[in-house]
Amino acid sequence: MVQKVLIAGAGIGGLTAASCLLKAGYDVELYEQAPALGEVGAGIQMSANAMHVLNHLDLGERIAKVAVRPGAYVFRTFDTGEEISRFSLAEEHEKLHGAPYYQLHRADFHELLAARARELKPDVVRLNHTVTGFDEDGDGVTLHFADGRSARGDVLVGADGVKSAVRRQIAGDAPATYTGDCAWRITLPVEDLPKDFLPPVMSVFMGPGAHVVCYYLRAGKLLNFVGLVETDEVSEESWTAKFPWEKLKADFEGWHETIQTIVDTVDHDKCFRWSLHYRPPIESWSTARATLLGDSAHATLPYLAQGACMAIEDGAVLARALGMTDTVEDALQLYERNRIGRTARIVRQSDANRVLFHMESMEAIRARFANVDEGADRNTWLYSYNPLTVELS
Ligand SMILES: Cc1cc2nc3c(=O)[nH]c(=O)nc-3n(C[C@H](O)[C@H](O)[C@H](O)COP(=O)(O)OP(=O)(O)OC[C@H]3O[C@@H](n4cnc5c(N)ncnc54)[C@H](O)[C@@H]3O)c2cc1C
Repeated sequence: MVQKVLIAGAGIGGLTAASCLLKAGYDVELYEQAPALGEVGAGIQMSANAMHVLNHLDLGERIAKVAVRPGAYVFRTFDTGEEISRFSLAEEHEKLHGAPYYQLHRADFHELLAARARELKPDVVRLNHTVTGFDEDGDGVTLHFADGRSARGDVLVGADGVKSAVRRQIAGDAPATYTGDCAWRITLPVEDLPKDFLPPVMSVFMGPGAHVVCYYLRAGKLLNFVGLVETDEVSEESWTAKFPWEKLKADFEGWHETIQTIVDTVDHDKCFRWSLHYRPPIESWSTARATLLGDSAHATLPYLAQGACMAIEDGAVLARALGMTDTVEDALQLYERNRIGRTARIVRQSDANRVLFHMESMEAIRARFANVDEGADRNTWLYSYNPLTVELS
């Protein structure tokens, strides 16, 4: 019988899993390598499939206070800014999928998740613990740390991100291939921008070889800009790697004045760029007592905005699976069996979406967006999934 669950990594996935497991009655110890909890200054989007879990953890109202609920998804041309297509988001998403769509600052979101986990167990997070590996036997699992310490539990969950030490031991290193795209990340205080700069929607500007996604954070006080560009100049695979402002300016030369204003307003020392790598889905991610969750199991490209949503779904399904079988091994198999197909589909669809945004000509982009029904079908399987009620078999 499972009593204590060890989790490696206190990112969005590890913290959510901790709260789901604590709420289900398990004891949890969450080991994080960093000396303090935190997240980078950028935006993150939460769709209904993840919001079901966050509502279950009583976080819905707290999220609503610090988030933005975008009115629509608006696609524009990169040069004239002409609107090509628009999908309703605010009311429509909740009506169709049973929970709201939100955009948040990652640091605010991470803080809410950490606070909730600590409400459920004040000392659940153990900082300054770098996981190096684990041993398992018939009675349990021992987690090893870089400084020689160890911890013992019944189950281990590796939620230690894309460079996971737990994954390395279970499934080997994930082969990563550079996609040809880098992503710029910028946030700007709205007070630095002209009045009524962009409407409160998710604005996507599409051009040959690049696209930009802009949306508001912190109840509209901050503008988030992500600019994806095709380039042979590979940068670091790190969300905190700074890159020269002059390169940003050059990457968006000739783009609409909205984009020029953003580029000209941003603090030159706060421009970040990282390269995007594709990691193919894996066939199996569990042993008899250890499993993976979030990016360590299924790192994805950001083109569907689902990496963190999947990590959140994982935690809820794992907590349910642990209560449904006689042995830990069967529970981990049940969890994996019910997650691997969906997560692999999202990883592949995200990769395919790159082509949706990066077309060769404006004619190709217009032709693609003329087919609105196709988008609606994709959204249904993605957003209507409820990890709390989906049948596990
Ligand atoms: C540009 C971009 C935009 C995105 N936008 C969205 C979006 O809008 N919506 C969405 O759902 N997803 C989005 N994602 C994806 C999302 O950010 C990730 O999928 C998510 O953060 C993964 O969470 P995680 O907890 O699995 O991993 P991480 O957030 O990487 O957390 C892993 C944690 O483990 C710790 N750790 C690592 N190694 C060790 C070790 N050896 N020992 C102990 N601790 C360790 C780390 O310090 C960290 O705290 C986006 C990603 C990118 C790149």
